Amino acid sequence: MPAQESAASPWPTDLSAYCFEVPHSEDSLLFSSAKGVRLTDATGRSFLDAMSGVFVSCFGYDCEPIAQAVQQQLHTMPFNPPLHGANQAALDLARALVDLAPEGITAAKLVNGGSESIEAAIRLARLHHRTQGRPDKVKVLSHYHGYHGATFGSLTLTGRPDVSRFGPGLPGVVHVWPPDCLEAFWGVAPDRSGALAAEMIERTIEAEGADSVAALVIEPVIHLRGMAIPSADYFARLRDICDRHDVLLVFDEIVTGFGRTGHPFAAQAFGVTPDLMCVGKGISGGYAPLAAVLIGERIAAGLGDADGPRAFAPSHTYAANPMASAAGLAAVTLFNDGDYLTKVNELAQYVEPRLRQVVAGRGTLRAIGLLYGVTLTGSDDGGAGPIGERVARACLRRGLILRGQDDWFVLAPAFVTTRAEADEALEILGAALDEVCGAAR
Ligand code: PLP
Repeated sequence: MPAQESAASPWPTDLSAYCFEVPHSEDSLLFSSAKGVRLTDATGRSFLDAMSGVFVSCFGYDCEPIAQAVQQQLHTMPFNPPLHGANQAALDLARALVDLAPEGITAAKLVNGGSESIEAAIRLARLHHRTQGRPDKVKVLSHYHGYHGATFGSLTLTGRPDVSRFGPGLPGVVHVWPPDCLEAFWGVAPDRSGALAAEMIERTIEAEGADSVAALVIEPVIHLRGMAIPSADYFARLRDICDRHDVLLVFDEIVTGFGRTGHPFAAQAFGVTPDLMCVGKGISGGYAPLAAVLIGERIAAGLGDADGPRAFAPSHTYAANPMASAAGLAAVTLFNDGDYLTKVNELAQYVEPRLRQVVAGRGTLRAIGLLYGVTLTGSDDGGAGPIGERVARACLRRGLILRGQDDWFVLAPAFVTTRAEADEALEILGAALDEVCGAAR
């Protein structure tokens, strides 16, 4: 049944036992099954997913090789005593992640989710400086408007006003402005914003005292700014500043990792090797909760003997568990063996010019690989709520899932999306934009 046709509500009348991820509304869907890049809800309505869930389900919802790997691991050994050793899938996954990462990354710490990987990165950065005899280097810098997760440390790094409702966060976190905000709020020219933002970060490190700063944690592409994509020059400057002040450069690649940008990681897209990389979401293709911190050689050296095993505790009960590791290993193997980097770039080349045409006159497009952000700049039907949310709702009513907030919406289609499915998504998006922003001029 197409999404528009309304059906009786599938929701039980008493919903008080379930705590929803976001406020329950008339748009909330009770999902019941999924295949390819489509989901079906409990009333039988079908939805085309242009968000890979939430930057996760890159291989679609019925990827046999990953499902089989998980099923096989389930029947072989679903869990192992983590305090007494490890499992082969986790060892193989760590090696596969290091091989995919830029040169200079030599170890991986497996965890259960993106927020956990951010926490682990903060702890690793502080531990690194302590073992180097600089225990006072504890502060962490991060971008205003970046998103880093929902645990206390990661939430504190998240430079958005809505986190203040939880009271004081992790001490020693300092926020800095990314280039995109300098352009949007102060009118700085795009060809100047990277240099100026980097310079402001260096001045901040100096003002805080370089001997007190442990790390700079940033999303290479800020998704909650409608995919703000800085220039490669910005990252080169940050690398240089961090080196000169002995500050670890940490990339939060939880959205941008695993081929999403058309490169294995954004680090390779921008030609910079961070000291630590937090990765998650696409790492398992959505077949198990999984994330990791990828660790640069010099930090890994402090976690064990040269060329020997590494250790980093305390850990989490479910960290590096066989089920999640099997899912991750199958996903990374499929990514490599299935030549998904080529597939992502081919699909991106098909989608980008068409998407540009659909949004023309109504918004500006930012694109890197299969990651798209549109800031809405055209006219507006004046409806209630932010325009980005209204576009997303108008899409959902027509059976298309994307994310919209403030004045932007973003898309991150699965790598297995066919051209016909991409065309269908673009047609629905065009109709939704016609409704909310008026017909394209
Ligand atoms: N960092 C980024 C850039 C994210 O987008 C997210 C989640 O959306 C996180 C960190 C937190 O990851 P998780 O939700 O898996 O804890």
